Amino acid sequence: MSVPFSTLKFPERYSALGLLSHAITRSAWQPAWRSPDPKPAYDVIIVGGGGHGLATAYYLARNHGITNVAVLEKGWIGGGNTGRNTTVVRSNYLFSESARFYDFSVRLYEGLGRELNYNIMFSQRGMVTLAHSRHDLDAQRRWANAMRLNGVDSDLLTREGVRDLAPALDFSDGARLPIMGGFVQKRGGTARHDAVAWGYARAASALGVDIIQNCEVTGFDVGTDGIRGVQTSRGLIATNRIGLAVAGHSSVLADKLGLKLPITSYALQALVSEPIKPVLDTVVLSPAAGIYVSQSDKGELVIGGGLDLYASYAQRGNLPTVENVLAGLLTLFPRFSRLRMLRQWAGIVDVVHDSSPIVGRTDIPGIFLNCGWGTGGFKAIPAGGYCFAHTLATGDAHPLTAPFGLDRFARGALIDEAAASGIAH
Ligand code: FAD
Repeated sequence: MSVPFSTLKFPERYSALGLLSHAITRSAWQPAWRSPDPKPAYDVIIVGGGGHGLATAYYLARNHGITNVAVLEKGWIGGGNTGRNTTVVRSNYLFSESARFYDFSVRLYEGLGRELNYNIMFSQRGMVTLAHSRHDLDAQRRWANAMRLNGVDSDLLTREGVRDLAPALDFSDGARLPIMGGFVQKRGGTARHDAVAWGYARAASALGVDIIQNCEVTGFDVGTDGIRGVQTSRGLIATNRIGLAVAGHSSVLADKLGLKLPITSYALQALVSEPIKPVLDTVVLSPAAGIYVSQSDKGELVIGGGLDLYASYAQRGNLPTVENVLAGLLTLFPRFSRLRMLRQWAGIVDVVHDSSPIVGRTDIPGIFLNCGWGTGGFKAIPAGGYCFAHTLATGDAHPLTAPFGLDRFARGALIDEAAASGIAH
């Protein structure tokens, strides 16, 4: 007999027997979010069902009571960069504007599992940045001190301090990149990327938001008084407020509105190795080697590095970049040389000239932007959604994202954070 999942009580719901019985009987699982047909009109339309779009919809409903909202996603939710990233969460930024914003995001992450009642596997295992020279040590001292002045945790590390946190690194005398020290943000770490998208989707849907997948926005209906609606693969939908949260495709959609954005799109690649026993329980970043690595709960090494250095919308990535990243990894961890790589992928990231995001209004009434997260917007999802919802609801910038408006390019008030990432944004 088929029993709906929702009627099961604990422990039947979660026991191995319960799962097995579902597999055999194929009884109905309750979907985590509704999949309605689009309505003819909404108060707000969010384009892009990545983490930022979904979080924005959730906070619009939760913080502002605006629930007549649709999230339009051309593929499946989380299928863009949100489901393709290396899951690092941190707030180790240099400038006050960035530190305030990203640390708010880390704080939201700290309570997010509870708030959404969804296990996002947030693991504050720390993030260690390596210094390989006296110049690195000087630069990192300044960086770590700036973080402390901004109220963000950071601890300078000696060589021995690094060894305590990541003993698998090469500390031999002949190491190609000697480890002279570094610094750690202990509240940094990783979170499960799909779960962040799914958790926000479920919570937004429960509050009344329509999440509409396989619905591509193909154009806009703009009148003299501003935006009137979107053309989609599922017909015209009316609205006078649109939030664009489409990451690497921001300039493509902006172009349809006659807007030119200071964004270049690149492929960013990542790889995972075959699973191995626990060997690394922190995130390690080496700006000099151009790589970072962590170990997932399944045991795979999750490896990332720099961008493919030419503009592209091809979601593939090239072999020379993979070779560089792996060469960097083996320089730091020669013991990984016999590991096999399990898979490799790429996402299209939206890089702004000053390596900081764009959140706020445009010159077209009713069109708002959330983009430019480049290689680092996963960690920004909670705060990005929170602040963007504020802007969509009130028309005004949230104080935390006010410095990140499009107008900063006209004012020359750039926030150049490339140095703080250590990896090309
Ligand atoms: P996305 O998740 O890309 O969502 C945008 C959505 O818009 C997509 O689902 C797309 O299908 C949809 N869309 C596009 N065009 C249309 C259209 N016309 N109509 C409807 N829908 C449309 N960040 C970190 O903080 N930490 C990391 O460790 C990290 N590692 C990364 C590693 C890699 C390999 C990559 C690629 C990125 C990494 N990032 C990381 C960056 C991070 O993933 C992104 O900044 C973040 O996910 C952006 O979220 P988003 O919601 O804006 O975009």
